[in-house]
Amino acid sequence: MSAAAAPTPPIDAAKALAAQEAALQGCTLCKLCQSRTNIAFGSGNPRAGLMVVGEGPGEEEDRQAKPFVGRAGQLLTKMLESVGFDRERDAYIANVVKCRPERNRNPEPDEVAACNPFLMAQLDTVQPAVILTLGNFAAQTLLGTREGITKLRGRAYEYRSSILVPTFHPAFLLRNPGPEYRRMAWDDLKLAKREFDRLTAIKR
Ligand code: URA
Repeated sequence: MSAAAAPTPPIDAAKALAAQEAALQGCTLCKLCQSRTNIAFGSGNPRAGLMVVGEGPGEEEDRQAKPFVGRAGQLLTKMLESVGFDRERDAYIANVVKCRPERNRNPEPDEVAACNPFLMAQLDTVQPAVILTLGNFAAQTLLGTREGITKLRGRAYEYRSSILVPTFHPAFLLRNPGPEYRRMAWDDLKLAKREFDRLTAIKR
């Protein structure tokens, strides 16, 4: 009788993320270590079907060591709720860079590159069905393009074993409250929810 190969035990996502976060403490791989107070690694449900990826921590996120807890975060919570996602139950939230760029400037290419392995490790651990990217940086970084968000949004992309849906950054929506942008963002969120329902129904 041949011995069956032992099944690979499922990874404990919470433990894996905690280990990644612990390993990142004191990171000096890029110059953002000079401007940060805390590393805002990620938050939410480690086994979520939805992973939200933003740009980088702002002032409040830097203070609380948690992504999307400032004004943009409050809008993000409402955006998710508008299509039936509960932020803590359904989503895991992270950023392209984990440390705050001073005066909230855009992250620079060397900073994005230095932080990329940590974002990839988060994605590999959470293994979300759907990735919702917010704004130019997250979509461009993951899709490997320089195309702007206005062109990229409005459709779903295959990304590794997930579906990626790009939409506007809530901070942009706060600055540009034009109804047409909010409507486009809502269309994107509905698309993300449809994909989420389709893909998680298969697993159920
Ligand atoms: N903007 C982001 O991109 N991420 C945050 O965590 C907060 C604001």
